[in-house]
Amino acid sequence: MTDKTLHIVGGGMAGSEAAWQAANLGIQVVIHEMRPKVETFAHQTGNLAEMVCSNSFRSDDSEQNAVGLLHWEMRAANGLIMAAAEQHRLPAGGALAVDRDAFAEFVTEKINAHPNITVEFGEVNEIPSTGTWIFATGPLTSPALGQAIAKETGADRLAFFDAIAPIIYHDSINMDVAWMQSRYDKGETEEEQKAYLNCPMTKDQYEAFIDALLEADKTEFHEGETAGYFDGCLPIEVMAERGRETLRFGPMKPVGLTNANDPENKPYAVVQLRRDNKLGTLYNIVGFQTKMKYGAQADVFKMIPGLEDAKFARLGGIHRNTFLNSPTLLDDQMRLKSKPNIRFAGQVTGVEGYVESAAMGLLAGRLAAHEILGKPITSPPGTTATGALIHHITGGAEAKTFQPMNVNFGLFPPVEGLKSGRRGRKDRYKAYTDRAKSQFNEWLEGQS
Ligand SMILES: Cc1cc2nc3c(=O)[nH]c(=O)nc-3n(C[C@H](O)[C@H](O)[C@H](O)COP(=O)(O)OP(=O)(O)OC[C@H]3O[C@@H](n4cnc5c(N)ncnc54)[C@H](O)[C@@H]3O)c2cc1C
Repeated sequence: MTDKTLHIVGGGMAGSEAAWQAANLGIQVVIHEMRPKVETFAHQTGNLAEMVCSNSFRSDDSEQNAVGLLHWEMRAANGLIMAAAEQHRLPAGGALAVDRDAFAEFVTEKINAHPNITVEFGEVNEIPSTGTWIFATGPLTSPALGQAIAKETGADRLAFFDAIAPIIYHDSINMDVAWMQSRYDKGETEEEQKAYLNCPMTKDQYEAFIDALLEADKTEFHEGETAGYFDGCLPIEVMAERGRETLRFGPMKPVGLTNANDPENKPYAVVQLRRDNKLGTLYNIVGFQTKMKYGAQADVFKMIPGLEDAKFARLGGIHRNTFLNSPTLLDDQMRLKSKPNIRFAGQVTGVEGYVESAAMGLLAGRLAAHEILGKPITSPPGTTATGALIHHITGGAEAKTFQPMNVNFGLFPPVEGLKSGRRGRKDRYKAYTDRAKSQFNEWLEGQS
């Protein structure tokens, strides 16, 4: 082992991909993986890159879908996770689903056979001050390491639960019904006074909404998952169970607001949405974290006036998830600002999903390898899927309300001169993906 060795903690989606990328650039890599010595509640095997739940990498359409585009970029960068997925692909329509055991075994074999990679089994529970490290310990980062990270970053910068309210594309909201206003017009500037998007409800609409919430299908918590979350962020359906008026006195209170589309009529309840990114393309529903099943969420939330045609960038959820407040903690090279010898990658950086996590591993592996080689590179531009994600987590997202994010076109800067709204969507997405592919290739070529 030399001081040019790259240490990677966690051999999951991100850690395996990071190791593969760095090793292919000639770097000596040691993966430190705690399983099977120390287990998590979700992993079942000692394999690297184990899929803990679904066996799908989602859409493989690289022209109309942002996650499909991420697949494309990872393939272009010789990604191991995509190669393994391709090798063990199962029929699944337009989605990329895999035989999960064969997939993880393939990744494990490739890593074990790589001459530049060593795997050491054991838990890492401190943040070293020397050496080059990538921490890719995922949503189920071991508690001891979680404590060490919290000590380094400040406890308020590391979350252990992911309480996500649904996020909606702004261009799918009906602004003839909704209006922009902050409660009591609070704020110094007009932008602040109109920071929230409001959807009004009549009494009948509110009552029907509460009924739907109470009747909706919900997912259950895994054992050990509930500790510590109930204080801060109650799911809306739990609030509704506590009393039919609870929401109207909580996140749906109608006070301090006048419906700009119908000023004479006072709404009985109001659902508020808050901007979720600097571009203003995404809005989250304030206080609407939920354990409703995905199908039920779409049905119930479309009952909200103004959201009848809502398109969701992501649906809500609450589950165990350790993640950093990356917008404040990481620089644009994924390094911890307070200890630049440490990078983070994968879901712990505040991306969500197998593909996004692997993509962040791919990037961290390349960035770290180039740094060790003395040839630093920049991250890909924000017009690419990989770049859009890294820009979002290291600066584009609102730090105060930061929650894990899937890749989606709302994170991309618009292509000028294209129609907005539903009609132009197909052309717009094609323009995004064409632009991304050419700029991702340029980024790759710039590294040789
Ligand atoms: C219950 C559950 C269900 C999920 N379902 C889905 C789903 O259906 N689809 C989806 O796309 N995503 C799902 N996710 C998210 C999923 O975990 C991530 O998408 C992906 O696995 C994250 O990749 P990662 O490499 O960041 O973390 P992981 O793949 O979890 O890898 C992290 C690795 O680090 C190891 N590790 C942790 N702490 C230490 C330590 N201190 N020392 C050494 N090693 C350590 C772990 O053992 C693990 O191998 C789910 C997550 C959970 C918790």
